[in-house]
Amino acid sequence: MFDSLSDKLELTFKKLAGQATINEINIGIAMRDIKRALLSADVNYKVAKKLVEDIREKSLGEEVIKSVSPAQMIVKIVNDELTELMGGENKPLNLSPKKLPAIIMVAGLQGSGKTTFCAKLARRLKKNGKNPLLVAADVYRPAAIDQLKTLGEQVEVPVFSIEEPDAMKAVMQGLEAARAGAKDVLIVDTAGRLQIDEKMMAEAEAIKNALKPDELLFVVDSMMGQEAVNTAREFNERLDFDGVVLTKLDGDARGGAALSIRQVVEKPIKFISIGEKVDDLDLFYPERMAQRILG
Ligand code: GDP
Repeated sequence: MFDSLSDKLELTFKKLAGQATINEINIGIAMRDIKRALLSADVNYKVAKKLVEDIREKSLGEEVIKSVSPAQMIVKIVNDELTELMGGENKPLNLSPKKLPAIIMVAGLQGSGKTTFCAKLARRLKKNGKNPLLVAADVYRPAAIDQLKTLGEQVEVPVFSIEEPDAMKAVMQGLEAARAGAKDVLIVDTAGRLQIDEKMMAEAEAIKNALKPDELLFVVDSMMGQEAVNTAREFNERLDFDGVVLTKLDGDARGGAALSIRQVVEKPIKFISIGEKVDDLDLFYPERMAQRILG
């Protein structure tokens, strides 16, 4: 079992002389515990290193208040810093109220949970009084289209699809169908592959340029660890997305990917997916994720 960072730090400070103050010696040892905690939560090494340096600076400058122990104080500083680094607060979807329909484009690797997310988001928007249309733009895999149709039925949101393997055509016709049907939000599930490749990226880029989505969301599996960060970087370089959806957080991923991705691509995480069911979607709250990372 992983001890929480705060238990660990209490223990560290107990072993040290002069524990009532934060000084060069005890902060040095505390930083080692913090770095270990971050790395074991899958925070990218470079991100953890920089973070520990920042926290060290901040902690040394602080007076220890009588009512708290130095360990508690450092934990609070770490928590605040992580929360801040992950954006401070939830960043909501930014959908233009004037454009009809508002457009949300969803991209990511195959298996990341992209299609499931599209359905969950449609359900959420519908509950909030919207009238969405889902578009199956993963036209190369009939199974993906069928999956979206099945999910669409579950969440009672219509799904637009075409028979031909032409993603751009599916998207543009989907947009027309949304306009004709007075839909106010279009959610486009784009094609994913098991690995990043040029064809997928070029297609996603072309769709982005044609649709000019209000929100381009990148979906990534939190269980992928460090690879999640690399994938996010590559998608961002090419697509300059607006926000991130972190999936499979119901597993034992400790959430370090959230911090690393945020640091590396500098885009907000907007949603987290916490299961396979259509209601297993939450807004992303940096403070909760900070606590999860610290254990
Ligand atoms: P896509 O290929 O990116 O469209 O991914 P899918 O939406 O088909 O999801 C791939 C698999 O992951 C499916 O079996 C989903 O049920 C599952 N899945 C999606 N999101 C989550 C999640 O948050 N938690 C868990 N445990 N499974 C998920």
